[in-house]
Amino acid sequence: MDIKHLSDQLIIANQEKAKLEAELILANIELDFQNEEKSKRAKELIAANKELDFQNEEKAKRAAELIIANKELVFQNSEKEKRAAELIIAYTQLELQNREREKRAAELILASTELIFQNQEKEKRAAELIIANKELIFQNEEKEKRAAELVIANKELIFQTKEKGKRAAELILANIELDFQDEEKEKRAAELIIALKELGFQDEEKGKRAAELIIANRELLVQKLEKERRAAAEAKKDEFFNMVSHEFKTPLTNIKAINQLLEKTTSKTDKNYPFILNANHSVKRLEKLIEDLLDVTKINSGQIDLNIASFYFPDALTNSIANIQMISNKHEIRLENFANILYIGDQFRIEQVLINLLTNAIKYSPDANQVLVIAELEAKHVVVKVQDFGVGIAKKDIDQLFQRFYRVSETAMLFQGVGLGLFIAAEIVKKHKGTFSVESEQGKGSSFGFRLPLS
Ligand code: ADP
Repeated sequence: MDIKHLSDQLIIANQEKAKLEAELILANIELDFQNEEKSKRAKELIAANKELDFQNEEKAKRAAELIIANKELVFQNSEKEKRAAELIIAYTQLELQNREREKRAAELILASTELIFQNQEKEKRAAELIIANKELIFQNEEKEKRAAELVIANKELIFQTKEKGKRAAELILANIELDFQDEEKEKRAAELIIALKELGFQDEEKGKRAAELIIANRELLVQKLEKERRAAAEAKKDEFFNMVSHEFKTPLTNIKAINQLLEKTTSKTDKNYPFILNANHSVKRLEKLIEDLLDVTKINSGQIDLNIASFYFPDALTNSIANIQMISNKHEIRLENFANILYIGDQFRIEQVLINLLTNAIKYSPDANQVLVIAELEAKHVVVKVQDFGVGIAKKDIDQLFQRFYRVSETAMLFQGVGLGLFIAAEIVKKHKGTFSVESEQGKGSSFGFRLPLS
C-alpha cells in the first residue's frame, strides 16, 4: 500500500517535474526572445546615439562657421565705416576745391573782361594809325608819280637825241650786214649741198640696214619655226616611244615568265640550256631598254615623281653593288667608303643612278677587273664617285654625255647601248637638287660623281 502510494506520488511528482520543465523551457524561450529584442533595441539606441553625435558635430561646425561669418561681417562693417569716413573727408576736400575753382573762375572772368576792353582800345588806336598811315602813303605816292613823270620826260628827250645818232649808225651797219649775209648765204648753200649728199648716203645705209634686219628677222623666224617643228617632232617621238614601250611591256612579261619557267625546269646539262640563258639575258636587256624609254618620256613631260622617304644611304650603295656584281663577276666592285648617314630622297631612283654608273663602269672597262665606289660626306653633302679603269672619254665629248641618245662615236660600235643611262641619271640627281661631275682620261679610265645636298 505504501509502495503504491509512493509510486503514485512519484508519478505525480514526475508529472509536476515535466510540467515545470515545460514551463522552464517556455520561460527560457521568452527570455531569449526578450534578450533578442533588447539587443535590437540596444543597436537602435547606438545608431540613434551616433546620429545625435553627428548632428551635434554638425551643429558645432555650423556654430564655428557662424562665428567666423559674424567676425567677417563685423570686419566688413568696420571697413565700410572707415571707407564712409574717408569718403566724407574726400567729399569735404572736393567741396573746398570746387569753391576755390569757382573763386578762380570769377577772377579769370574779371581779368578776361579787362583784357577784352584793353584789346578793343588797342584796335581802335591801330585803326586810327592805319588811316593816318594810308594818308601819308598816298601823299608820298603822288609825289613819286610826279617825280617819275619828270624823269620820263627828261629821258624821252635824251632818248630822241640818241635815237637819231643810233639810226645813222644802224644804217651803216645794215649795209655791212647785207654784204655779210650774201657771203653767208653762199656758204650755207654749199653746206646744204654737202648735207643733202650726206642724207642721201644715210638713206642708202638705212636701206641697207633695214634689208639686213629683214633678213635677220626672217632667219630668226625660220629658226623659231625650226625649233617649234623640232619640239613637235620630239613630242611625237616621245609619244611614239611611250606607246611602243607600253605595247612591248605586256608580251615581254609573258616571254620572261615562260623563259624563267623553262630555265627552272630544264636540266643544266641539257643542250638547250645555254640558249634559254641567252634568251633570258636578252629579255632583261629589252626590259631595261623599255624602262629607260618610259623614264625618258616621263622626264620630258615633267612627270618623273620622286617617292621621298628617309633611308640608310649605305643600303642604296650595297644594294646597287650587289645587283651589278650578280651580273658581272669579272670585275670586283669595291666600296671604299660608305657615307654612314640617313638620307632623305627616293631610294629606288638613287639606286637607279648608281646602277647606271656601275653598268657603264663595267661595260666601258672590258680589260680591267676593278671598279671603285667612294661615298663621302662633305660640307652638308653626300658625294659619290664611281671610278673605273677603262677606255676613258675624250675632253670634247665630256660636256655632251648627259644629252639623251648621245654616245661617243669612236666607241659606239664597240659597246651595246642607246645613250639614255646618263641622261636619266642626271635628271634624277637634278630632281634631288644635286650635281654631276665627270673626270676622265682616254685609255686610263673615268670617274663619274654626283653630289647631293643633305637637307
Ligand atoms: P649607253 O651606255 O647606253 O650608251 P649612257 O647614257 O649611259 O648610254 O652613256 C652615254 C655615253 O657616254 C656612252 O655611249 C659612252 O660613250 C659614254 N660613257 C658613259 N660612261 C662611260 C664610262 N664609264 N667610260 C667611258 N665612256 C662612258
